[in-house]
Amino acid sequence: KASVMDGDEFDDDRQPSELLESKAKTALEKLQDDRKTLPIYTYRDQLLEAVENHQVLVIVGETGSGKTTQIPQYLHEAGYTKRGKIGCTQPRRVAAMSVAARVSQEMGVKLGHEVGYSIRFEDCTSEKTVLKYMTDGMLLREFLGEPDLASYSVVMVDEAHERTLSTDILFGLVKDIARFRPDLKLLISSATLDAEKFSDYFDSAPIFKIPGRRYPVEIHYTKAPEADYLDAAIVTALQIHVTQPPGDILVFLTGQEEIETAEEILKHRTRGLGTKIAELIICPIYANLPTELQAKIFEATPDGARKVVLATNIAETSLTIDGIKYVIDPGFCKMKSYNPRTGMESLLVTPISKASAMQRAGRSGRTGPGKCFRLYTAYNYYNDLDDNTVPEVQRTNLANVVLTLKSLGIHDLLHFDFMDPPPSEALLKALELLFALSALNKVGELTKVGRRMAEFPLDPMLSKMIVASDKYKCSDEVISIAAMLSIGNSIFYRPKDKQVHADNARLNFHTGNVGDHIALLKVYNSWKETNFSTQWCYENYIQVRSMKRARDIRDQLEGLLERVEIELVSNLSDYETIKKAITSGFFPHSAKLQKNGSYRTVKHPQTVHIHPSSGLSQVLPRWVIYHELVLTTKEYMRQVTELKPEWLVEIAPHYYQMKDVEDSMSKKMPRGEGRA
Ligand code: ADP
Ligand code: MG
Repeated sequence: KASVMDGDEFDDDRQPSELLESKAKTALEKLQDDRKTLPIYTYRDQLLEAVENHQVLVIVGETGSGKTTQIPQYLHEAGYTKRGKIGCTQPRRVAAMSVAARVSQEMGVKLGHEVGYSIRFEDCTSEKTVLKYMTDGMLLREFLGEPDLASYSVVMVDEAHERTLSTDILFGLVKDIARFRPDLKLLISSATLDAEKFSDYFDSAPIFKIPGRRYPVEIHYTKAPEADYLDAAIVTALQIHVTQPPGDILVFLTGQEEIETAEEILKHRTRGLGTKIAELIICPIYANLPTELQAKIFEATPDGARKVVLATNIAETSLTIDGIKYVIDPGFCKMKSYNPRTGMESLLVTPISKASAMQRAGRSGRTGPGKCFRLYTAYNYYNDLDDNTVPEVQRTNLANVVLTLKSLGIHDLLHFDFMDPPPSEALLKALELLFALSALNKVGELTKVGRRMAEFPLDPMLSKMIVASDKYKCSDEVISIAAMLSIGNSIFYRPKDKQVHADNARLNFHTGNVGDHIALLKVYNSWKETNFSTQWCYENYIQVRSMKRARDIRDQLEGLLERVEIELVSNLSDYETIKKAITSGFFPHSAKLQKNGSYRTVKHPQTVHIHPSSGLSQVLPRWVIYHELVLTTKEYMRQVTELKPEWLVEIAPHYYQMKDVEDSMSKKMPRGEGRA
């Protein structure tokens, strides 16, 4: 009972009406009972003792044993929050939000009060917050304001096995501060067994193992490779539904689009079967799923029905969904890869590792014996899959992290205490880019521009574009563009039955071939003119939810402008200066048109194309800059704006010479069309 009583202090914050409601109380009591059934509960006292006796502890336990939701609560109950906050990092923002919501329920407090979360552009915490769930990237940024994390008594780096870039950098930073903050407790928790490696890295920290309950999982492979894994996954799900005993299904897919397609097909096919089959409840879950819909995956499945969860990798270890008995594993995930030579980054559908495949299978055996259907052959599994996933630090662009480390005063990056070091070309490439953006000087020190850039939680090129908007007197427009670009490609929607209408609505914003950046600005400003009308969004086939998020981001960027002393100035009359500000950040992303209608990037020449969704895809300007490259069937530039080549030399004389921008003009352009 002690653990429940410790929570009593929070009762004071609840509304009197809530206290009177006996129904709410029993729900809370039930949650408290549930907490005691988790595998970790038996080890509560031992765990607290271990934390008391050791500064750094590595904790290993199966997914679902209660690490993320319980450990911070145990420490709170034991009084650690009297000395400071408990921070718990998650690689994914959905996990941070969902776990914080769960823990606030278990503690009977309002989310954002004692229990809160912090993810990029969304801070749901308050003065009261003592248990703070956050993305690893956010904790990394907190070092900028509080280099010794003085307001924390405990830092738990959770899901350490995921080895995201931010988690790996955090390892080095927390290891360092633990040396001069003996009062800080450090927990490194992981779902997999490579805990030895964490222990070695943290000077032989002890490993605390939470024995999980694990039921046997039957593994099935396909006899021959599947040509279309999405279709195979859907067929398998339906077969399980009609032939197998009760139990929910978890399908691992690679991303939002794929999940939405699968959802549509499943709905269509089950509708065709009518009442001949039991109800199949379809629950998607991916990073951008709106918060209201996220809770649905945790709702208990009604008797007689079956739930099928269509999830990205997030369900591999970050989120535990109870009741899963069948797992369908097509064997792929979306993975970032980076070519340090060209500086090109791409997100590719890639085969998973054996370690991932085992985690996925394990999701079916949590509450009883399970079955895992691998949509690849046993031969593939044993011969083609890597043992472990390569840590992100070894396959990503490091510019952002290098800028953060530089602003933390860490100069000697080659000797930073990486658990696994990145390729040195990737580090050099990051330094080169930051130098080109004028964020670093010749000897690699942070410049004033760099210091301003580091204030923005954005990629360096976006930050630079904002900082440059000061000079071009158009900061108001540029932060709107930055906010819209940060949303990704979920601004416009295109319902299947109204594609022509949707496309026309979209083209309205492109009048005059202003380019995608200015089109995004026009969308934002038009919405603002209607006083942020939802109706206007519907009429223009624009996702109101994305727009609201863009508005939030923009508000925060506006606050940051003030911090770096950039005045909010609007200059709508002149698109050219706005484009120059964009170019100041994105000049390394320039490309010129080729005779055959494709483009060639100017530095590190590579053939690329304008993405069909761009307003310029039919226009084909001679020179463009792009926001990003995406590789699908071809290497596409997404978010493209026309450019005057002389801007490149004017804005980045250290990066482009006249010859870079001249030769094609005189040689390849038909006579008369060349620049005078
Ligand atoms: P671990 O971190 O060890 O994987 P968790 O602490 O995340 O385990 O999960 C413990 C239990 O809490 C699981 O049974 C899970 O179903 C439940 N749980 C976690 N998050 C939620 C949520 N958002 N809603 C409902 N139940 C949840
Ligand atoms: Mg967890």
